[in-house]
Amino acid sequence: MVALVDTHVHVNFPELATDLAAVRQRWQAQGVIRLVHSCVTPDEFGTLQAIAERCPEVAIAVGLHPLSTAGFWQAAVGDRIAELAQSDRRVVAIGETGLDFYKATNQEEQIAAFTRQIEIAQALDLPLIVH
Ligand SMILES: [Zn+2]
Repeated sequence: MVALVDTHVHVNFPELATDLAAVRQRWQAQGVIRLVHSCVTPDEFGTLQAIAERCPEVAIAVGLHPLSTAGFWQAAVGDRIAELAQSDRRVVAIGETGLDFYKATNQEEQIAAFTRQIEIAQALDLPLIVH
């Protein structure tokens, strides 16, 4: 069996998190040996750490999804992302971030959040997960 790495999962979403043990069995059965858990908002970070505790093959990203920026983006959020990224050795990427002008129209907030997360990724020498 080919060993697989899933570079983008959100197993904290309720439809998966409520059955995490079975979800994990399915990824293991398919040969997935490593996963990167993407992040919608930094508020998820504790939950992502708990998943990584249960499933050591899960690495963590921290960031702010473009569709979660509306009314939420501010410089302090960027500072928090940078702090969290440095707080846990399981963090392997910043994101997910990016721009989504199809589903949302808050272009200025999205651009500010994306720009800041690019800067954080560069400063910490981490990959960036782009939506
Ligand atoms: Zn995603």
